[in-house]
Amino acid sequence: MGNLLGVEKTTVHHVETCPDTGVLLARVTPHKSMRNRCGSCSRKSPRYDRGAGPRRWRTLDLGTTETYLVAEAPRVNCPEHGVTVAAVPWARHQAGHTRVFDQQVSWLATQCSKFAVTVLMRIAWRTVGSIIDRVWKDTAKAFDPFKDLRRIGIDEISYKRGHKYITVVVDHDSGRLVWASPGRDKATLRKFFDALDAERSAGITHVSADAANWIATIVAERCPGAVRVADPFHVVMWATDALDEERRASWNRARAAARENEPARGPGRPAKDAPSRPDSEKVRTLKDSRMALWKNPENLTDKQEVKLGWIVKTDPRLGRAYYLKEGLRTVFKLPHADAVVALDRWVAWARRCRIPAFVKLQKSIVKHRDSILASIEHGLSNGRIESMNTKIRLITRVAFGFKSPEALIGLAMLSLGGRKPVLPGRE
Ligand SMILES: [Zn+2]
Repeated sequence: MGNLLGVEKTTVHHVETCPDTGVLLARVTPHKSMRNRCGSCSRKSPRYDRGAGPRRWRTLDLGTTETYLVAEAPRVNCPEHGVTVAAVPWARHQAGHTRVFDQQVSWLATQCSKFAVTVLMRIAWRTVGSIIDRVWKDTAKAFDPFKDLRRIGIDEISYKRGHKYITVVVDHDSGRLVWASPGRDKATLRKFFDALDAERSAGITHVSADAANWIATIVAERCPGAVRVADPFHVVMWATDALDEERRASWNRARAAARENEPARGPGRPAKDAPSRPDSEKVRTLKDSRMALWKNPENLTDKQEVKLGWIVKTDPRLGRAYYLKEGLRTVFKLPHADAVVALDRWVAWARRCRIPAFVKLQKSIVKHRDSILASIEHGLSNGRIESMNTKIRLITRVAFGFKSPEALIGLAMLSLGGRKPVLPGRE
């Protein structure tokens, strides 16, 4: 029966159906060697009292029936942690779900939609967050994420619709997320270098980051020998922001033109022979063209491709802004020698383009030219950084509704930290 329930070092006494709710209740006790251990540190400790009587732990369904383990929850007196509820082999300390349940939820959360996880497991998304948090904390204890760290990227990621931030560190060589913490300031980043320790900090050879001063300050303080390079993802993001600024300007121009040239129509369907209203049409198309302009061309849907074609044809100025953005993105795909030429050509093109947002961008590019070319020279321009950023940002959206940033970090680390959860009972 223990096998069927996925529990170890546990005796299953009997299984019954709860007459009131129809759920299965399995009465269990830990094997003798597992009894009277502190819930915090697992140390053998003298028994203190019976505690608050029997407790239930939700575990995986048996067949289609919701199932719980039921056991006494006595307290022990740990020399270090004082009076605490005794550890049980089937669940983490103070968790209301069993380890196999936690494990399955974390696997699902890294593989399926929020909807699939909550419906299949019959739990709230917030509960998924608490489970992820404790599973990650356990996982993190078992391995060293900083092993052989040489080239890292530091970034800040916003969540809660841009109201809050976490700082993340990625390993450019393994393509893994290695560290994340709530906050975006010097104190937060110092915590990373403290965890890494001084000796290993000195082993860092390259650090990529956006132009944030607080990152530069701490990197100079903790690994002064590392080469600082621009993060290509952020440079391309500057171009994307400039493009969006121009899109809004173009939309405003079209709106003004529509107001001037195309008086408002009365209610109802317009007559068949009504004059065409190109400015109004442009206003409508530009309003929701952000994605078509923003996405990488290889990821566009058919509809977005048509929209992009239409924009380039009817709004040459916005079309030019689009090609400027794509041009800059292309620079990062080139070998270093070609990139040097291409970047300088791009700067010359942007300087003359008469689109204020790109003239301004061109000045930032000139200012950061050396660190941009350094990122290409040191091979940090690969799509990996971009794909990591995209994935983390996607996770911040999925994690919306988790109670704590720790749950968001847990989900990100379990998904991208190189220690993906496995299903219970599989290896
Ligand atoms: Zn203890």
